[in-house]
Amino acid sequence: MGLAARLPAAAAFWVLLGTCVQLPSAAADSVAPRPLPQAPQTDPALRFAFDGQMIQGGAVIGTAPKGATLLTLDGAPVPIAPDRKFLIAFDRDAGPSATLVATLGNGQQVRRALAIAPRAWDISRLNTLPKYPVPRPEFEKVRPAELAQINAARRMQSDSAGWRQTMLWPVVGRISTLFGSQRIYAGEPGSYHSGIDIARPTGTTVLAPADGVVILAAARPFTLEGNLLMIDHGAGLNSAFMHLSRINVRVGEHIRKGQPIGAVGMTGRATGPHLHWSLKWRDARIDPLLLAGPMPVAE
Ligand SMILES: [Zn+2]
Repeated sequence: MGLAARLPAAAAFWVLLGTCVQLPSAAADSVAPRPLPQAPQTDPALRFAFDGQMIQGGAVIGTAPKGATLLTLDGAPVPIAPDRKFLIAFDRDAGPSATLVATLGNGQQVRRALAIAPRAWDISRLNTLPKYPVPRPEFEKVRPAELAQINAARRMQSDSAGWRQTMLWPVVGRISTLFGSQRIYAGEPGSYHSGIDIARPTGTTVLAPADGVVILAAARPFTLEGNLLMIDHGAGLNSAFMHLSRINVRVGEHIRKGQPIGAVGMTGRATGPHLHWSLKWRDARIDPLLLAGPMPVAE
């Protein structure tokens, strides 16, 4: 599927920026005596505020109500920064709703129902079998250790404030595969594309999309990801860059947005030189296109 065909849909997502729909109350039609309605919250500081898209694969920076000491998203705690900002994001397959609850210092709770817009993913059905069918024995032997290294990296949380920044495209070029796209081989769904692919020649400099701390810098190519670099942007958000020909940075290093971090390559499982960039917030896989915005036109 060409990018041009997908762009109008991607552009439409931006219209949703900052929207948040209050779900209708299930108790609205109840005939039982109603509890006293809550006084309408007129002070905006006592309400939630949002900047971002409530959409599958999207991320939102929120501002918690004034006095909030605790915040949960569907029951899971979300840290609040001293300026009341917080980050939440929605997986590619996130359900249609989620609930934020802020607990104030006086014990009062502020609830907010979130409506998460669905997306139409690029699904292609093929009559053929996958190009890489069954893993070979040597793959099965080394893969568990590679996955353990990736999972250990993801558990390393930094206090980086990169999550607050608008992301920069690490390379500018043609997007060859979109996030979330999926192939179904003779009725068998393959796993969806977990990042975005940008086709660029080997050796093209890769820039850090936001501030962060290096949590993984592969010493040698991983079987699938090749030379893999992972950067933590704080608040549970991290980037992974795959198939690199070169990695310029070391684990623990603090990175600035726009800093060169490596170079495009085709190490690991890649049919041509490209950068695969993926973003995760906790366990949610999110779409770099929604955080970095439309790809700029190449010089
Ligand atoms: Zn990819």
